[in-house]
Amino acid sequence: MALPAEEWRAFAARRWAALQPALRERLAAAPLRDAVRLGCGLLGRGEALTAVSRRPEAEEEEEEEAAAALRRLCRRARAGKEPAAARCYREEGNRRFGRRQYVAAARLYSQAASHERPGSPEVSLCFANRSAALFHLGRFEACLEDIARAQGHGYPDRLLPKVLVRKAECLLCLGRLQDAAEALNAAENKVAVDQTMTSATHQALLKKISQLKIKVHEKESCPEPAPEAHGAIQRESEIWEENDSISGASSSLSLNFDIERGRHLVASQDILPGQNLLKEKAFVSVLCPGESLLLPDSSETVWDTRVTNADLYCHRCLKQLLASVPCSGCSYAKYCSQNCADLAWEQYHRTECSLGALLLTLGVFCHVALRTVLLAGFAEVSRLVEQSHDDDKDLHSPEARCKHINEVPNTRGGIPGKAEPLIPGCNDNGQYQSSYQAVFNLLPHTEKHSPEHKFLCVLSIVAICKKLQEAGLEAAVLNRESSEEWSKPKECENGSDELSPELKIMAEAMLRHVLQLQCNAQAITVMQELGSGDGAVVNKKPVRLATAFFPVLSLLNHSCSPNISISFSGTAATVRASQAIPRGQEIFHCYGPHRCRMRVAERQQLLRQYFFECRCQACLEEIESDVKSVVSMRNSFCCPSCRASMQGEDILCCSNGACALSVSRESLSQRLWDLQQRIKKALKLLSDNKGDQAIKMLLKCQVDAENFLSPEHLLMGEMEDHLAQVYATLGKWQEAARHLQSSIRIVEMHHGPSSVEMGHELFKLAQILFNGFAVSEALSTIQRAEEILSVHCGPQSTQIQELEEMKTCLLELPRSVLQRT
Ligand SMILES: [Zn+2]
Ligand SMILES: [Zn+2]
Ligand SMILES: [Zn+2]
Ligand SMILES: [Zn+2]
Repeated sequence: MALPAEEWRAFAARRWAALQPALRERLAAAPLRDAVRLGCGLLGRGEALTAVSRRPEAEEEEEEEAAAALRRLCRRARAGKEPAAARCYREEGNRRFGRRQYVAAARLYSQAASHERPGSPEVSLCFANRSAALFHLGRFEACLEDIARAQGHGYPDRLLPKVLVRKAECLLCLGRLQDAAEALNAAENKVAVDQTMTSATHQALLKKISQLKIKVHEKESCPEPAPEAHGAIQRESEIWEENDSISGASSSLSLNFDIERGRHLVASQDILPGQNLLKEKAFVSVLCPGESLLLPDSSETVWDTRVTNADLYCHRCLKQLLASVPCSGCSYAKYCSQNCADLAWEQYHRTECSLGALLLTLGVFCHVALRTVLLAGFAEVSRLVEQSHDDDKDLHSPEARCKHINEVPNTRGGIPGKAEPLIPGCNDNGQYQSSYQAVFNLLPHTEKHSPEHKFLCVLSIVAICKKLQEAGLEAAVLNRESSEEWSKPKECENGSDELSPELKIMAEAMLRHVLQLQCNAQAITVMQELGSGDGAVVNKKPVRLATAFFPVLSLLNHSCSPNISISFSGTAATVRASQAIPRGQEIFHCYGPHRCRMRVAERQQLLRQYFFECRCQACLEEIESDVKSVVSMRNSFCCPSCRASMQGEDILCCSNGACALSVSRESLSQRLWDLQQRIKKALKLLSDNKGDQAIKMLLKCQVDAENFLSPEHLLMGEMEDHLAQVYATLGKWQEAARHLQSSIRIVEMHHGPSSVEMGHELFKLAQILFNGFAVSEALSTIQRAEEILSVHCGPQSTQIQELEEMKTCLLELPRSVLQRT
């Protein structure tokens, strides 16, 4: 998803292989500016003449032109408005509504609305239908907004009375009695003049209206006490002293720079676990679409009714969506409010809107690159691009260049070898801010990417810029919005394949950003509910929501054993110390490969994409001494005969001298694979509501696993976790708690007693104990979960608030219930 679609990658690879060797060399060594220039020639007309090496003519004709290939691929990504899709979604929505699945219905009506033309009667029907689903969900404010939207888009007059009655009901529920009475009067007037209604409908509506009028009167004469202010649990805000020279950072950090580590952050005083170290809003972020948005090539049109990230979160602020506001131009972009839609349009979407399919095909990195330059604005982009050309001149001699490359440290942040200004990316006052200048100064590692990858990026970025030029969006991109320039599409003048000089500057910056993203992309993750979300126990898993640039967060170097935790709220990241950090110690973030999840060889393999070899404490210990990694120690096989531990590589021998059994690793791995398949089947049974069968199957898997997996194996824990989940869906809380406790013991061994993983597990246990009225156990579990989660996610996080609510509820339980337990 981050990279372009597979077929486009394959196309670029074939193209690269077919280039003349001289051109390949030129491209490989070209600075970004020249790479863009060469790319323009390769993606236009006449490319066959310049690009493809001499080959038999027949073959040459078979090779599709790059631009044509991309157009073909883009047809699979659907981002335009398609009324046929809208009809299909609305019908499915009606079916779900009939089955009282109101959340699903609301989502389907949203999908339908996104495909209808704004101002059409059809789109107003979608909003009206959605308002009904929202009403049943008790989301009265959202329901009122949708009713207003339906009316704004020309909802048919004859259908209006029913909607006005719903409006009155909402207002009544919200205690807005005067407004409710007015809505009822309006409804009554409509009914009175309507000629088209059957008399039965007529009667039914009038009856409903008079009933509601009575309710309004009752409420007026006997006002309810105002509901207690919610969120009484609000804790005092955290102590926070901001750093003078790094925006968003705590004053207990300092920005340092040396050749070995590049730019990095260090504790300038002792830091406590849970202490807030950094709060940063993403400079730019792009929502990751769901996989299913790229449909396979097929003549048949099948509308996918599955929900993806693109339907669940606001495309601008990442807030969770129920009743989205669709973009008026495309079916892809959806927002939490009209305000977000307007802001997004102003800042970038007016340029991106007609490029939807192309951006989906080229992947999130290209999309982030485009949005970055749009947010920065042409003036700032060209200032920094030109400055970088001047810097390159200083490094023109081969020796200086070579030195420059070799000095690049094991970090993504630093640019060494420059004395002025002292730390790159800082402004003239020596402050490091979350600005475009800081983004621009992140390392692109231009020389370290493979030439093929660079070629792919060049082709993709040039394709975006050509499309912008074709679509007449150049003026918008360059923030030159004079009306005549805006309306006049600048078609490739004099038929050349050239981009305008301004677009070339934008392309160069975008290419830089795509290359930077490989090392500097930060995933914004959220804990997303698994399954339908209607169970009593919420099972949550972290999912990647968006890809972003966080220039301050990017200052942190990697360690496989980090000392911080990151949590997200919308597009903002909060970094907290996950342990005590003594003064002088560096602050480390884990880019992905954590010592608890992978052994050192796997970690080093994964970290190669960031162009460095990890030298963190955990890696050094595992490489240099014979310390076995946590992962390989715990996730090992045991002897099928006597259950002692097994040793060796390809052939495993029992460590118990008296037994001395030997087995090939391959056969045990095969057994493990079989077991995993059976566990998957058991989970399928669970999702088909066959809980009892799922339990039988999981218990059998457990018995088999004990014969060849070590008791600490993560899979052992996972099976316990699944069992707990099944028992919870059956309402057997005691069994569920027992199995979850076994799972927690294994999680603790792997991740440590104060890890965030432990926090999430304890949160689940608290819910189970809460549901089972195990009051004192629940209270102590809530306490443990809170202690851990407040360190990693902060005292204001939703999980802590949910725990607090459970606690309040338990403490308010009547004594009679307490004594039963
Ligand atoms: Zn929003
Ligand atoms: Zn749009
Ligand atoms: Zn490491
Ligand atoms: Zn043995």
